[in-house]
Amino acid sequence: MDEQTKEIRKAYEVEKKARKELERLDRAKDQFIMATQHHLRTPLTSMRGYLDLLLDGSYGKVPKRIGEILKKFETSTKNEVRVVNELLDISQFQLGKEVVNLQENISIETILKEVIEEFQLETEKKNIYLKLEKPEKPFPQIKADPQKLKVALFNVVDNGIKYTKQGGVTIKIKKEQVPRKREQKPKIKIIIQDTGIGIAKEEIDNLFIRTFERGETAEKLWGPGKGIGLFLANQIIKAHHGRIWAESEGKNKGSTFFVELPIS
Ligand code: ADP
Repeated sequence: MDEQTKEIRKAYEVEKKARKELERLDRAKDQFIMATQHHLRTPLTSMRGYLDLLLDGSYGKVPKRIGEILKKFETSTKNEVRVVNELLDISQFQLGKEVVNLQENISIETILKEVIEEFQLETEKKNIYLKLEKPEKPFPQIKADPQKLKVALFNVVDNGIKYTKQGGVTIKIKKEQVPRKREQKPKIKIIIQDTGIGIAKEEIDNLFIRTFERGETAEKLWGPGKGIGLFLANQIIKAHHGRIWAESEGKNKGSTFFVELPIS
């Protein structure tokens, strides 16, 4: 065997070893995800189920005060299920797995109305508004994964409410009228605008591309944010062949989030 063949063989062995190690790490990650699913999501979901049964009186009448406490439990459990699901989705995206299952003829109106309904109690409690402006034309149908798209929009609206003390959040939908170029497909733009704490310009872009990234103002002032919502929203929207971005005039000047999606 000449020197060159020896070198090639050596490089091949190194590459093979590295590939094996990567495969092992990939399997370890998969096992971690499955364990998280099994040990966290399953019991949390079952807790939530029992709490729902207790609250709707399936095990007998619940005294008012205890009912109120059970409701708080139920809300916390629901939030925990949501966080576990989001972390699982993020790991799946990072592993390059297919997370989004696109279906034809999905109504964006239904998704947005469901999102808004989830925040009714919170907006009443905070005394801020959350409104969906009726578009001039009927809402177009889109190609989407309704559950995942709901998660993405939920996160953006959730932030709008979380980071707004006065005023509120307005959601608008616009259809791009005529595609400027022939190859450009028609799109819808969902605009989620709040009157809250705003975002410093230099922070905006990183919020979508880094996990556990938080704005300075939000970190100091606004309690237990996790810094994963916008990262996940970005991954989901990208998997829908869409785009998400934000604009803000700065501190205390509100923020506007834009989600652009192709129409089926
Ligand atoms: P978090 O759980 O921290 O809200 P996100 O990924 O959803 O995580 O958001 C990341 C960061 O982006 C927030 O911590 C906050 O600094 C900033 N942010 C997101 N939405 C808004 C908003 N509507 N107004 C002001 N800051 C926002």
